[in-house]
Amino acid sequence: MEKKLALITGATSGIGQATAKLFASRHINLILCGRRKERLEMLEKELGQSVDVDILAFDISQPHEVKSAFLSIKEQVPHIDILINNAGNAHGLGPIDKGDMNDFEKMIDTNLKGLLYVSQEIIPSMVKKKSGHIINLGSIAGKEVYPKGNVYCATKSAVDALSKAMRIDLAEHQIKVSNINPGLVETEFSLVRFKGNQELAKKTYQGFTPLTPFDIADLIYFIISRPVHVNLADCLILPLAQPCATTVIRESTREG
Ligand code: NAP
Repeated sequence: MEKKLALITGATSGIGQATAKLFASRHINLILCGRRKERLEMLEKELGQSVDVDILAFDISQPHEVKSAFLSIKEQVPHIDILINNAGNAHGLGPIDKGDMNDFEKMIDTNLKGLLYVSQEIIPSMVKKKSGHIINLGSIAGKEVYPKGNVYCATKSAVDALSKAMRIDLAEHQIKVSNINPGLVETEFSLVRFKGNQELAKKTYQGFTPLTPFDIADLIYFIISRPVHVNLADCLILPLAQPCATTVIRESTREG
């Protein structure tokens, strides 16, 4: 059977990297994207032992970079079966009146506009061949707004809406669209949110067992491996200790 081809954005760490590793172990060829080229090269070396791996270093928030990156793989684009729109981050955590406009713009440009730029490069060929699966990384932040999460929550809420919109527009072309909404996953996410502050980042995941990037990769693989007629449209995946966006049951707060 011919191997499938997946393009994963944000493959240099966390959920994207775990998904790349799981896909490689399941014989799915890969196009891996991110800004940090050295990390992409390391992955290419590691995963290239078992599948075909191409790497693309570009910033998804910059439309001209997206255009030229996809131009460089124009022969492969029509063969992409699976698109994982995973690249994204939170920048800052604070009340709306104290937020930094640069952070706000970065989140909108990456989490929302970047996802659109990349999708538009790939969707036309999926439409042409009448197949494909797009998985968007939303968040529990797209389902529930939490204090100080304002613009990050707004971008993920937009991803939620866009996933629904894509599903509606693309179903007639036999393209599946799924939205995955994780709670707390231990990745570099908090390090980025807190601008490199290791202590704050570590605190986010203390006193309970967070999800791992591999938990999300497992879910992604489950979703893409369902029978053709099944579309797992929307999944909320949480750590046991996080029943909703605003509650985390930590060792220090647990009774008994
Ligand atoms: P992460 O470890 O910080 O990974 C983020 C990835 O996105 C990196 O590979 C990064 O690559 C890439 N990225 C960020 N900005 C980019 C840009 N402008 N251009 C290209 N690539 C960019 O975080 P993660 O937890 O795996 O996050 C992955 C996705 O899951 C995100 O969409 C996030 O919002 C979502 N999510 C995370 C959690 C969580 O608790 N961790 C919960 C819910 C949803 P480079 O830096 O190399 O470019």
